[in-house]
Amino acid sequence: MHAKQKNNLQAILFDLDGVLYIGEHIIDGAAEAVREVQQLGYHIAGVTNTTTQPRRIIAKKLQSMGIEIPESSIYTPAALANRLIGNKKAALFVRDSLHEDFQDIQQSLSHPDYVVMGDIGGEGYPPETLRTIFQMVMDGAQVLALHKNRFWQKPDGLHLDLGVFVAAIEYATGKDAVILGKPSTQFFHAICKELNTLPEHALMIGDDIESDIGGAQNSGLKTALVQTGKYREAFVKQISQQQGIKADLVIPGIADLPDALSLL
Ligand SMILES: [Mg+2]
Repeated sequence: MHAKQKNNLQAILFDLDGVLYIGEHIIDGAAEAVREVQQLGYHIAGVTNTTTQPRRIIAKKLQSMGIEIPESSIYTPAALANRLIGNKKAALFVRDSLHEDFQDIQQSLSHPDYVVMGDIGGEGYPPETLRTIFQMVMDGAQVLALHKNRFWQKPDGLHLDLGVFVAAIEYATGKDAVILGKPSTQFFHAICKELNTLPEHALMIGDDIESDIGGAQNSGLKTALVQTGKYREAFVKQISQQQGIKADLVIPGIADLPDALSLL
């Protein structure tokens, strides 16, 4: 049993895939490490960019692996959009499977306060839908984008992704969307606010040097890179040099986190 470490951390944010599990397989020591840092008194949160699964399903998966992160402590772009909307009105453009993460909000297509843009399937946003959103934003609505990826790979080749359509609305209206998802600074800051902690008192642990580590570092959080999941030494070296990203901690895997906390 460790004593509460002499650092000024209050919260630990875990990326999920590549840190706690890989696909359907738990990473050695993940459940124990999460339990241990919880017992040390840190607030914990799961942070993932997934926009295809509701939080309920993610929580279920963690639970089935014995990892104790409750649904309310899992932050996805959709969950955060939901919280930002609060009791305001929103027009939703997301796939059906995500609707349950928005069940408490007031949906409206007439004069919404927010427009949520997510993946809607097919080849993306048809021109008439873009015009509807354009009019809503000109009318004062704020766009919350679940991510801003440029393109994605399907078996038949590359396809335009959500970011293209978000950029179209931004270009036409001259108004920036709020991008929800790593590496967005707005995303990290909103999560810290939800956790009642300042960014400098939070640690982000991830396997993605750009999205997890770079994003958190730019947002003022402490960072820990694990050498599991998508970690590749040569790629990390290259990106770190190009973008000036440096994790505060580099550890072989999540099992090493509790001991490593004393190094911060
Ligand atoms: Mg990951």
